Amino acid sequence: MMGRPEGLKLIDENGKRIDGRKKYELRPIKMEVGVLKNADGSAYIEWGGKNKVLAAVYGPREIHPKHLQRPDRAILRVRYNMAPFSVEERKKPGPDRRSVEISKVIRGGALEPALLLHMFPRTAIDVFIEILQADAGTRVAGITAASLALADAGIPMKDLVAACAAGKIDGEIVLDLNKEEDNYGEADVPVAIMPLKNDITLLQMDGYLTKEEFLEAVRLAIKGAKAVYQKQREALKEKYLKIAQEVEGNE
Ligand code: ADP
Repeated sequence: MMGRPEGLKLIDENGKRIDGRKKYELRPIKMEVGVLKNADGSAYIEWGGKNKVLAAVYGPREIHPKHLQRPDRAILRVRYNMAPFSVEERKKPGPDRRSVEISKVIRGGALEPALLLHMFPRTAIDVFIEILQADAGTRVAGITAASLALADAGIPMKDLVAACAAGKIDGEIVLDLNKEEDNYGEADVPVAIMPLKNDITLLQMDGYLTKEEFLEAVRLAIKGAKAVYQKQREALKEKYLKIAQEVEGNE
């Protein structure tokens, strides 16, 4: 949300956005599961071509330092990290306030409610979300990739967590803001859901909305997340199909 260049319109007279999308249209999303050999689970997402996100999961595994162990359940640790080359101006490497906050909300808010952590006492499950390229919406892309990587690692879950944002630009509620829309728009509302449980696991808001606009944005973001959920299921199926074909080929 910043001062916009004079004359810049985010929605044109035909109702099209600057990247050609309609108001309720998602950016194209590609997902692949099991992309890293040395992680227990992994996933890669391209969201709108310009967001490139990798998620890796390790565990359940022994905890170091040991005093962090919980006798009744696994602990979940999440690190959201932006690569220095992920944005136009080189980003200073390492954690900053924003990435620490995002790591925290992704862990406690978005992912933890989905996992059956009590099945693995005294262990840790580590989730690494690496933003290789950023174009707004990296936290929802990160949550979506992390949840796929957790499923790929075989961690028992109540449901996959799927995420998407909606927001307000030029006075209109729209789905899935890109970078210009996020910069020059009025508000952004990222949402994560567990569709089977009809549960919202993360809900944030940046900017200003009336109560009615807020509810409209949340409803729209949930719709978007449900579409993302279908793509997650397809990506997982694709992986198992590949394995099945390999097994058949070896017989
Ligand atoms: P999200 O990526 O979840 O939408 P934000 O709303 O905080 O999170 O950020 C929006 C976008 O702003 C990011 O996707 C990225 O493109 C850009 N951005 C965030 N942090 C930086 C940074 N330190 N330097 C340059 N661009 C950044």
